[in-house]
Amino acid sequence: MKDTLCFEVEGLTKEYGEGHSKVRALRGVNLTIRDGEIIVLLGPSGSGKSTLLNILGGLDSPTDGHVRFHGIDLGTMSERALTNYRRNNIGFIFQNYNLMPGLTAEENVELVTEIAVNPLPAAEALDLVGLKERTHHFPSQLSGGEQQRVAIARAIAKRPSVLFCDEPTGALDSTTSLKVLNALDTAAAEMDTTMLMVTHHQGIAPLADRVLHFRDGNIEKEIRNESRAKPEEIEL
Ligand code: ADP
Repeated sequence: MKDTLCFEVEGLTKEYGEGHSKVRALRGVNLTIRDGEIIVLLGPSGSGKSTLLNILGGLDSPTDGHVRFHGIDLGTMSERALTNYRRNNIGFIFQNYNLMPGLTAEENVELVTEIAVNPLPAAEALDLVGLKERTHHFPSQLSGGEQQRVAIARAIAKRPSVLFCDEPTGALDSTTSLKVLNALDTAAAEMDTTMLMVTHHQGIAPLADRVLHFRDGNIEKEIRNESRAKPEEIEL
């Protein structure tokens, strides 16, 4: 982790809907994240974790408050600047892989490397997540854990500054989850990536520098780990 600031979040509020059906997904979140920091977000379903990830990743905009990325307020960016921000700086990994079924593992990664500025070659990204032998397989020929590792390779191939992972192991058994976490850990370390991971698995918390506990649209509690555990040291 470095001393430089990656994100500064101030008074972040997000409301969906109007009147009686209004939902307050975020209620004035304040948060500072350093470059290279690994953060795990825990908390009950509906507490605002995904909403925070989506706003930081430029997929959604807040109702109120500010997000600064390396000092630049996302709210002041044009649509085009925001698209470039997402394209060049951000990698997303979701629970349900989102791979193109008609493309091989390598071709799925190439979808991203073709439009990135300084990408990692697709084969290298797949090697980094332990899938060197699977480059020409189609998603249907891969296990769930392997498909998720393709999704990780795709996200890291553009060398993003930040990786957002929303329940990356949500659909996987514990042995497979550990393999996926290992791939994420290796990739983040290799590329010096800042990482925010939403999970229901309390057992993943030791992998983080900092664990944020969400409740009712805000951070209820924040725990700093003295040192980060390796995936092989945790139990799920
Ligand atoms: P978590 O990730 O902690 O499960 P979310 O950020 O997904 O929580 O959701 C926070 C709240 O915002 C929930 O009450 C959810 O139903 C609501 N919400 C999220 N996205 C939308 C949306 N697009 N439209 C309406 N309500 C939404």
